[in-house]
Amino acid sequence: MMAKEDYYQTLGVKRDAKPEEIKKAYRRLARKFHPDVNPGDKSAEERFKLITEAHDVLSDEKKRKVYDRFGQYSDNLADAANQQPYGRGAGRTAGAGGFDFSGFEWNTATGGATGTTGGAAGGSSFRDIFSDLFGGGNNNARTAEPPRAQPQRGADIEMPLALTFQEAVTGLTTNLSVNRSEQCARCNGAGDTGGAPITCPTCKGVGQVNRASGRLKFAQECEDCQGTGKRRPPCPVCHGKGVTPKIESVKVRIPPGVDTGSRVRVPGKGMGGRLGAPAGDLFIITNVGRHEHFTRKGDNIYVTIPLTVPEAALGAKIEVPTVEGKAQLRIPPGTQSGQKFRLRERGVPSLRNPSARGDQFVEVQITFPKVISEETKELLKQYAQLNAENPRVVMGLE
Ligand SMILES: [Zn+2]
Ligand SMILES: [Zn+2]
Repeated sequence: MMAKEDYYQTLGVKRDAKPEEIKKAYRRLARKFHPDVNPGDKSAEERFKLITEAHDVLSDEKKRKVYDRFGQYSDNLADAANQQPYGRGAGRTAGAGGFDFSGFEWNTATGGATGTTGGAAGGSSFRDIFSDLFGGGNNNARTAEPPRAQPQRGADIEMPLALTFQEAVTGLTTNLSVNRSEQCARCNGAGDTGGAPITCPTCKGVGQVNRASGRLKFAQECEDCQGTGKRRPPCPVCHGKGVTPKIESVKVRIPPGVDTGSRVRVPGKGMGGRLGAPAGDLFIITNVGRHEHFTRKGDNIYVTIPLTVPEAALGAKIEVPTVEGKAQLRIPPGTQSGQKFRLRERGVPSLRNPSARGDQFVEVQITFPKVISEETKELLKQYAQLNAENPRVVMGLE
């Protein structure tokens, strides 16, 4: 038997507390110490039994009167109180005044006190007290209708997709295997197939579920019954979810011009909707790879092209690669290393304006071949004699 404690203290209420205050105090404490909220916590379970015991007596006007007179309650005492005038100390002969919880079962639905020392629950089973008090703070929880499913648009899905540099420029049509869902064909998304309400199996009728975040534990309204503690028997096909999983091959068209982080929307290929509501959308998030030669900034392309000395000195028409084939570039005579040329509208197509596209910028680097032949060496010596100007002196570096 647990240590006796004053019932008013147990519930944290004054001795003249009104029935509403007692119920409110119990509701608050029961939520806190309920075994489902504190799995495996023996002291919480003991505390829960105590506050339930205190509430059972103090919430009943007749039992409370007996308790106020004798400082304890039992059916024997109650009988004695009925038979005897005040102040006869009947309590001492009235047995233990104990509270028998042997009829309570925490996890099964048998309920009902079976002991002989006085009905702990006074004929009302634990389940009844339970459904009376829980259920999202709804006093009418016992009679409350389980929530009806509402039409609900399906959630969007985001999927990453890796593209090569060139695929991002030219666009791509491909089939993707998408883990999505569709409205359940059996229940049309209701999640149930009708039938009498049952105790919500998710929260065991409490209306709340325990969540852990790190070392913190807190109670949350049960989503499956929306806090009512009751629900209709779930659909055997979708198990109450209203949607069934589906792996679907979805044809996806990636438009030209996407970049890393672009979002390509595929309407209606997200999660399935419920009760006729539309499905969500599928969003493809592109991740574009690098190119061996091209660099991209927005819709512009940058490339570095080598030039020979004669091409740079004398001018030339050369071919340069672009993202869409080769282009002609005219190199004027006297071109220096590092000079940049623009090829208009040879960049990436604009995602926002399909008729527009970026430019390509070509930076030239003059390269010098390894001189091996004696003949070339002779030519260069002649070149040096003809162009004796020291460029470092010209630039003030010597
Ligand atoms: Zn629930
Ligand atoms: Zn279903």
